[in-house]
Amino acid sequence: MRKIEHIGIAVKNLEVSNDIYEKLLGAPSYKQEEVESEGVKTSFFQSGPNKIELLEATKEDSPIAKFIEKRGEGIHHIAFDVEDIVIEMERLRKEGFILLNDKPKKGADNKWVAFVHPKGTNGVLIELCQEVK
Ligand code: ZN
Repeated sequence: MRKIEHIGIAVKNLEVSNDIYEKLLGAPSYKQEEVESEGVKTSFFQSGPNKIELLEATKEDSPIAKFIEKRGEGIHHIAFDVEDIVIEMERLRKEGFILLNDKPKKGADNKWVAFVHPKGTNGVLIELCQEVK
């Protein structure tokens, strides 16, 4: 794990939240992207060296829709930048963490991603991400 890559926030309405976060951070979203496999629309903001990812569900059965149903809007995951996602996944598996993916998949913002189940991390969903080269 090298650093926190971004913090993911589940929102009900991306347009409304884009306005809120543009006002909050003083700069507009620099990228919006739909990830069909995950059933989400995402929007990225830069804040100094850090990034915020807003996520809106595009389907009723998407993980984001389920999250909001259960817990309401709010912080959904913390993403860590890793050098080699396959090695990191293997390391975490050996440490006893539950991975939600068998192998990395293509996520938003040009990243390979994999998720660690919040059960083993005090209730926080963890995303690993590695830049696609
Ligand atoms: Zn993310």
